Amino acid sequence: MKTIAIVEDDRLLNEALSRMLSGAGYRVLRGYTLQDGIRLIYEDPDLMIIDIGLPDGKGTEICRRAGEYSRIPVLFLTARDEERDMLEAFDLGADDYLVKPFPMTVLLKHVEAILRRTGGEENRIIYRGLAIDPDRKAVFCDGREVRLTPREYSMLELLARNKGKVVTKRMILEQVWDADGAFVEENTVNVTLNRLKKKVEPDPADPIYIRNVFGLGYTFGE
Ligand code: CA
Repeated sequence: MKTIAIVEDDRLLNEALSRMLSGAGYRVLRGYTLQDGIRLIYEDPDLMIIDIGLPDGKGTEICRRAGEYSRIPVLFLTARDEERDMLEAFDLGADDYLVKPFPMTVLLKHVEAILRRTGGEENRIIYRGLAIDPDRKAVFCDGREVRLTPREYSMLELLARNKGKVVTKRMILEQVWDADGAFVEENTVNVTLNRLKKKVEPDPADPIYIRNVFGLGYTFGE
């Protein structure tokens, strides 16, 4: 599980970022000041999200220290009038920046892109409010972890990995129920799938993740 440190003195934004990132399956550390940020460097997060305008100094100072300590990727948050600080931040080795206000989904894309670039294999599958972490076999829906049985989990991961394609019942039987698939009733797939939908879909009657493709199987996403 990747750790992200947020250093932002705007408490509402800090809270919103934290909620969204935990929801996407990240471990989140939070700070509100330059001093907090410098302390958080030593927790060795995989990424720091730092507001440039902090009450006790410039967020870029954390970047300078982080650069001295180790190469922690940094994403800066700036207000429009902080362009000069931003350029300085890039000189100090910042990886990216976002100008406030920004949609949370955009921030998440930037975070994923930086982590992909900078840190090993990031397997996490994220789609809308759903995050699947194959390393831990964990699933998160809008911030809360959802408990799935091993079969439900395997089914969800199989569907998500084939996003946009039709996954047939046969594929599911072969991959989720192993070679014994031939002895499993097709109805078992339906039953497990319906249970899975109830756990992950905000409205199982009008699913946004898993849809039936009549006569063929199922599909994940649009
Ligand atoms: Ca600020």
